Amino acid sequence: MVKICCIGAGYVGGPTMAVIAVKCPAIEVVVVDISKPRIDAWNSDTLPIYEPGLDEVVKACRGKNLFFSTDVEKHVAEADIIFVSVNTPTKTRGLGAGKAADLTYWESAARMIADVSKSDKIVVEKSTVPVKTAEAIEKILTHNSKGINYQILSNPEFLAEGTAIDDLFKPDRVLIGGRETPEGRKAVQALKEVYANWVPEENIITTNLWSAELSKLAANAFLAQRISSVNAMSALCEATGANVSEVSYAIGKDSRIGPKFLNASVGFGGSCFQKDILNLVIKINDYQKSRFVNRVVSSMFNTVSGKKVAVLGFAFKKDTGDTRETPAIDVCKGLLGDKAQVSIYDPQVTEDQIQRDLAMNKFDWDHPMHLQPTSPSSVKQVSVVWDAYEATKGAHAVCILTEWNEFKELDYQKIFNNMQKPAFVFDGRNVVNADKLREIGFIVYSIGKPLDA
Ligand code: NAD
Repeated sequence: MVKICCIGAGYVGGPTMAVIAVKCPAIEVVVVDISKPRIDAWNSDTLPIYEPGLDEVVKACRGKNLFFSTDVEKHVAEADIIFVSVNTPTKTRGLGAGKAADLTYWESAARMIADVSKSDKIVVEKSTVPVKTAEAIEKILTHNSKGINYQILSNPEFLAEGTAIDDLFKPDRVLIGGRETPEGRKAVQALKEVYANWVPEENIITTNLWSAELSKLAANAFLAQRISSVNAMSALCEATGANVSEVSYAIGKDSRIGPKFLNASVGFGGSCFQKDILNLVIKINDYQKSRFVNRVVSSMFNTVSGKKVAVLGFAFKKDTGDTRETPAIDVCKGLLGDKAQVSIYDPQVTEDQIQRDLAMNKFDWDHPMHLQPTSPSSVKQVSVVWDAYEATKGAHAVCILTEWNEFKELDYQKIFNNMQKPAFVFDGRNVVNADKLREIGFIVYSIGKPLDA
């Protein structure tokens, strides 16, 4: 029986390994992590991450050929193929702070592999890493090798949070890069055989190592550029009376452009784009967030001081509880900086998480946002509630910051009745029917759309 071990039981490692296990009953898959609470949660009825369809997949194979463990060294030593899916955040200090990837977790995983291995291994880069990371990892492994043969493969993950299970079951493509040597080709073939259990052959692309590493970064840069381009267009729409949904639809009909990733919004978030892409794109994204806050404040007679503002949605997108780099953090900090009382509701994000995110004073003054960092006192201006109606009760304004489906279905008449007047809705995701809300009496701002008269 082939044995797979995945280091890192996060948003990528957990779902990816669950899908491999369910599709390959003849392979034993063990997901290991240094975080005991995370592993305990994977072994419980309440998984540590929310993803539609994940519960069913995990339940189908956990305890049969899918296992979660904190015994990292034992399972790494026993594995034939080791996926490394640890976090690779942006460096926060020292050389390259704010720009370069922090590969500390990767390096310590590689050193541990070198320490405990007693047989040949295929080591798969699942994390998103800078180009040439495989070369650095090879150095660590081969210089400590004790005669063991290591083959490094790059197999970047393209799943999107919120649709991870669908993306894993039916990937647009699986990309595998390896060394162009006989051993390298053999390792690529071994990993290809795993995916071939459910992915059609034509969707499995094999390349050299550097093409695979670079393709992941290039894909993220292209996707983020699309979002930032349409967001830049939304400002132009607001200035001219054009409607960004109409413009997106019209340009998306061009087969060279295509319709996906053309929704204007308050800005993109998530742990990946921010760190993987070009600085220019980030600037447009920051501008979009500060523009949104400025719109809220200027519409509300130039101040939100002492006013209750309901924030609906805090996750960086719908169908996930992930708040890393969510635009909601900067928007809330901007509102708190102008002394608003912010009442937040998100169906999947806990109060602890929100308070932690807002208390973190990691504001980057190099970026062109003119918002205040959060002070300890402003955290007291925040309340987190478990109901959209509670959040909006007595509020002057509603800001929709995540496109959860349930925000389309709310009883906006009831919300309007319980709000201060004039009642504002700032739709940062263009999810509500603005015309219907205007009929009720709301003043509505939608990203990139003509404003209320
Ligand atoms: P995550 O933070 O959710 O999970 C990483 C896990 O690795 C954590 O649970 C951590 O405890 C564990 N870990 C760190 N060092 C370890 C070690 N030495 N031994 C054992 N466990 C260790 O991260 P994630 O969102 O799953 O992302 C993982 C990688 O995949 C990143 O490089 C990310 O850029 C990339 N990626 C993420 C997504 C996404 O949508 N989240 C999509 C594609 C690629």
